[in-house]
Amino acid sequence: MRLLVIEDEADLLSSLAKALREEGYAVDTSEEGEEGLYKAMNTDYDAIILDVMLPGLDGWTILKKLRAKRKTPVLMLTARDTSRDRVHGLDLGADDYLVKPFDLNELFARVRALIRRTAGLSRSVVQIGNVRIDIPARQAFRSGKAVALTHREFTLLEFLAMHRGEAVSRAALYEHLFDENENTLSNLLDVHISNLRNKLGSEFIMTRRGYGYCIE
Ligand code: CA
Repeated sequence: MRLLVIEDEADLLSSLAKALREEGYAVDTSEEGEEGLYKAMNTDYDAIILDVMLPGLDGWTILKKLRAKRKTPVLMLTARDTSRDRVHGLDLGADDYLVKPFDLNELFARVRALIRRTAGLSRSVVQIGNVRIDIPARQAFRSGKAVALTHREFTLLEFLAMHRGEAVSRAALYEHLFDENENTLSNLLDVHISNLRNKLGSEFIMTRRGYGYCIE
């Protein structure tokens, strides 16, 4: 799952990005409105965390321009809790908002909920055959036994599970698993897929030859 955080307070931005990476997300960042909008328009993020008051373009303008092109879920960060700000954001197509200062665990929960809703999942625990995936706990189980997965393996599993029944292209997996600063080796994805198959069963993830992968 890949996020974009647009926030001009450098300390807040770096602590948010660090915390989100520790939660297993790939995180891109921007401190400025124009650049943030450019990234938001040109990458298929799983969610965007967007501050309202920004240099360049403000958060409202970014949201408005973004919505003309993309449905990426957006969580707005506002400095004031006023109904006027809330209503304005919702009218422009924001999916949720948080008032600063906020609790990190609440941010994590809201981001997870946004991504889940967008994928059309009503529950945060997904059962596929004998594999159970507990998304908030970031834990997978095989026949009831906990399976140790790396952050990246879990995220790959989560992404394929959210698109269950669809073939997901390799390009989409690279776009959603790695952030803008990562140097992605072309064989890395195959290594993660192979590890998941070893841990969850060889038939659990199917290969769509010449295209990508699928959980049926
Ligand atoms: Ca700000």
